[in-house]
Amino acid sequence: MDLSKLNKEQKIAVEHKKGPLLVLSGAGTGKTRVLTSRFVYIVKNLDVNFNKIIAVTFTNKAANEIKERVNFELQSNVDSPWIGTFHSIFAKFLRKHSGLVNLKSNFTILDIEDQKKLLKQVLEYYKINKDVNESIYHNEIQNLKDNKISSNENKKIAKLSSLENLDDIYSYYQQRLIEINAVDFGDILLHSYQILKNNLEIQKSYQNFIKHILIDEFQDTNVIQYDLIKLILNTDRNLFCVGDDDQSIYAWRGANIENIINFPKVFNSPVVRLTKNYRSNSSILEAAALIIKNNKNRLGKELISFNENIPEQKINLNSFYSQEEESLWISDNISKKLKESNSIGILVRLTAQMRSIEDKLIKYALPYEIIGGPRFFDRKEIKDILAYLKLSNSFEDDLSFERIINLPKRGIGNQSLQLIIDNAREEKISFFESLESLSLKNKIPGSLILKTKPFIEIIKKTSDLINKTTLEDLGIFIIEESGYLKMLENEKNKLKQVENESRIDNLKELVNALSEFESLDDFLEHVGLVNENQKKTHSNSVKLMTLHAAKGLEFDHVYLPGWEEGIFPSSRALEQNSSKSLEEERRLAYVGITRAKFDLNLSYATSRYTYGMNNYSLPSRFLNEISKVDKNTTNTINEYSLSNLNKKNTLDNVQLSPGKKRMLEFLKKHNK
Ligand code: ATP
Ligand code: MG
Repeated sequence: MDLSKLNKEQKIAVEHKKGPLLVLSGAGTGKTRVLTSRFVYIVKNLDVNFNKIIAVTFTNKAANEIKERVNFELQSNVDSPWIGTFHSIFAKFLRKHSGLVNLKSNFTILDIEDQKKLLKQVLEYYKINKDVNESIYHNEIQNLKDNKISSNENKKIAKLSSLENLDDIYSYYQQRLIEINAVDFGDILLHSYQILKNNLEIQKSYQNFIKHILIDEFQDTNVIQYDLIKLILNTDRNLFCVGDDDQSIYAWRGANIENIINFPKVFNSPVVRLTKNYRSNSSILEAAALIIKNNKNRLGKELISFNENIPEQKINLNSFYSQEEESLWISDNISKKLKESNSIGILVRLTAQMRSIEDKLIKYALPYEIIGGPRFFDRKEIKDILAYLKLSNSFEDDLSFERIINLPKRGIGNQSLQLIIDNAREEKISFFESLESLSLKNKIPGSLILKTKPFIEIIKKTSDLINKTTLEDLGIFIIEESGYLKMLENEKNKLKQVENESRIDNLKELVNALSEFESLDDFLEHVGLVNENQKKTHSNSVKLMTLHAAKGLEFDHVYLPGWEEGIFPSSRALEQNSSKSLEEERRLAYVGITRAKFDLNLSYATSRYTYGMNNYSLPSRFLNEISKVDKNTTNTINEYSLSNLNKKNTLDNVQLSPGKKRMLEFLKKHNK
């Protein structure tokens, strides 16, 4: 095979003969490329059949690259079940041995919504306190599965969680899953683990069959993933791992950074270090190094830019008055680049940041895609509040009625709902009108009248307020008076609290979105169009995603907005005030910066409009870490502040689309 496209160290790794090996090196040094080449090398030069090699990748894109390379080298068209993510590989394994865990081979993999629905039924069966949400149990059960704890291990369960009746609920949930011939994500790995652990013959047969195991992004493997691999590994121990301790960003999902740090000792393995970076120019690498060197818990390594085809240019640091201005600038800037490049990524720390960016991308008619998550207006909490707005705007909206009549929980069950619906059908009126009429005429039980009264009141009050107050006040009114905010804030479960904080951020962002519109009809139409616009994406679209989803990827142009204290590092990390959480944030910054090839745009807004108030924000400490050393010595940064320039001059020079005109008017109004 052609090894000429590899440097000396890369070749050493690829041509490794046998036994364990760790490739430990920084971003963009070619780890994934080495892993791909190693796969091909094993097939061609070590004469091992391609289907006897496991290659675990982080994304499907990397898996496809390996398959394509192998097919190219072998001049054939082969596919292997052993190339993919942990979940895709072991789902196939499980289909083969499903009988051993009482599943049929055509079992379904439930999505999260269905997993929660099933759990909800289980909770109802156990009559668990109605205020406890099924998501709490869902999180806890996934967490147990990631730690290899099955439903009959009562002692271990009790040690890890104090949730009421968790062991019974976990057991019954597993029983239900089996009864409906289904698995959740955690089961894919846990069932596989148990099959291998409890059936020595099967374990042995895989150990004999699988000759090599390759793992990408090794720093982010968790307990069960690592142990699964160890069960399949035979005494030749051909385990080839590549990773970067500086890019470990999934500790919150059980990933253990010690796995990579201790690997050389545990396996008595050689380590190959790659220092030549082929992705980014020197300014970008310098910035990345200046940040990450502030972390204490790291192995430490240097990166040198080595790709002559990558243009040298300074990184840009832009400050803006507001988030709207920041998003506007990003869209404007991208609109100039999109003609020449289809490699553009916008990476955010919090999902709530996406909304304003999405809006401006739409205004500029730029095609975009969100990688690895729902779009802003598709998020559950947003759809819930939108349902309140829609129902208040039109009492006929039965779908919205059904969505929120018992949200937050008001003790209105299916039977009561059926009463309301039946009456609506009989009288040919809407569900909402039916409820009102039943209450007025005392045709439903007194307790139900009492329970539904606040709901009727808030919908009527909101409806009355629609043209009397601003849209943002209307939004705040609903979020607070409906009890929705309280429901999120009162969460007792720790894991769920984290999720709810992000939901609350999103709701605040919804209020910001509302503030940009004059009338509710305009706003609701906009929401409808956003979702429509999303369906028409094409391949050269701008990619919008969280920093967590960006691992392993690279773009010519990268935008990193919202580098402010409280956003990045996140307020959660600041509150915890531990070096551990701050160091994980810093690794995330390192991952973000090193995604860029040559054009890196960092930015922050000096004030953020949140929940109807203007809050002043401080630039992120990570920016200080770059610019402190840099400004006079290495000259890495281009600093630029739109707020200090004459906005009219900068933006009027470009042709103004109607959308852009509206935006400028909006900015003028808000930035007095
Ligand atoms: P990350 O840590 O971000 O996952 P990585 O170490 O896996 O990065 P790759 O994605 O494999 O790095 O490589 C980064 C870029 O450098 C890719 O575009 C790859 O094609 C290129 N590259 C890798 N090795 C070489 C080489 N020897 N010569 C030229 N280009 C290379
Ligand atoms: Mg990689």
